[in-house]
Amino acid sequence: MAVLTFVEHWEGKFKKTSYESISYGRKISDDLNQPLYVVTLGAENIEDLKKYGADYIINVPKINLDNTSNMSIAKLITEAINSIQEDKPSTIIISNTNTGKSIAPILASILNSGLITNAIDHPESYNPLTINCKVFSSKAIAKYQSNYKQNIITIVPNSIGGINEKNGDGKLIELNIDTDLFVDKKITVKNRNKLSGKISLSDAEIVVSAGRGLKSSENWNMIEELADLLGAGTACSKPVSDMGWRPHSEHVGQTGIAINPDLYIAIGISGAIQHLAGVSNSKNIVVINIDPEAPFFKAANYGIVGDAFTVVPKLIEAIKRHKN
Ligand SMILES: Cc1cc2nc3c(=O)[nH]c(=O)nc-3n(C[C@H](O)[C@H](O)[C@H](O)COP(=O)(O)OP(=O)(O)OC[C@H]3O[C@@H](n4cnc5c(N)ncnc54)[C@H](O)[C@@H]3O)c2cc1C
Repeated sequence: MAVLTFVEHWEGKFKKTSYESISYGRKISDDLNQPLYVVTLGAENIEDLKKYGADYIINVPKINLDNTSNMSIAKLITEAINSIQEDKPSTIIISNTNTGKSIAPILASILNSGLITNAIDHPESYNPLTINCKVFSSKAIAKYQSNYKQNIITIVPNSIGGINEKNGDGKLIELNIDTDLFVDKKITVKNRNKLSGKISLSDAEIVVSAGRGLKSSENWNMIEELADLLGAGTACSKPVSDMGWRPHSEHVGQTGIAINPDLYIAIGISGAIQHLAGVSNSKNIVVINIDPEAPFFKAANYGIVGDAFTVVPKLIEAIKRHKN
């Protein structure tokens, strides 16, 4: 029974999370000695996928994803799975991105398969499939076991083993189906707003985040400058986006996006439990706060007690000096 990974791309470019899920799939394929299929929709730079160990790449060419819903994406993946004659996949891997989170349960319902979400590790055993997953907004880890023959696993980005290059045959299978049949006629996309950050939060290895301690939206120039210098994404606390200082797409936490960067720099954020729920999986946390009693210091690897308006410009100068 084969292993299959669905990978997303954005405007033709594959995401970091896509390479991660292929690497994850490759490891399972090697463990089970089974081929790895990679499914993608309307992609162009398919050659890229070979580098991470895809044995077969199933692409649905010439598809316009602008008007597809998550339901239609799940149906297209089902078509791809059904096109595999032998080696029907027993394990399907999807990254826990916004799209991945939505399509995985739809796909599980269509295929009547098991669904294990938020995996943060490789399977501990395959019979039955057993995996550690994060639960309760990352406050606990649960060990899930599935007795289904076919299972979908969603993996938490940037939390498992990273990206490993390993050449695969990458045999291309073009799936020529009438994609119009899969367009969800009940849904019309009226407009699309591009995220303001230059680097998407789910892909960012470094995130510079700020909270109410910054006092007003005008003070975000230094946050953006620091982020630019570090090649980082920008994030904020909930009140900041509620007050319209920053777009909602930057709000991290329990009710916002959950992120797992290598480095999270929190500036003028108190560290409320709801904020920590979305960022506590960061590999390193640096907190800059004027109040030495701020709860965030308890979760920090490094802390700077000081006024953001003094510390951040100094940090920017130091990084510039270092770069020169
Ligand atoms: C159901 C629910 C869900 C929630 N979900 C989320 C969520 O997803 N994400 C989220 O972020 N919050 C969430 N919240 C809100 C959360 O409880 C906190 O209120 C919020 O995180 C506080 O934001 P803050 O740290 O920016 O502001 P504050 O709590 O006001 O903290 C500001 C911090 O800045 C520091 N500061 C002030 N001036 C300076 C300065 N000059 N230099 C440096 N530091 C300074 C202060 O010492 C303080 O620690 C949720 C709340 C509820 C009830």
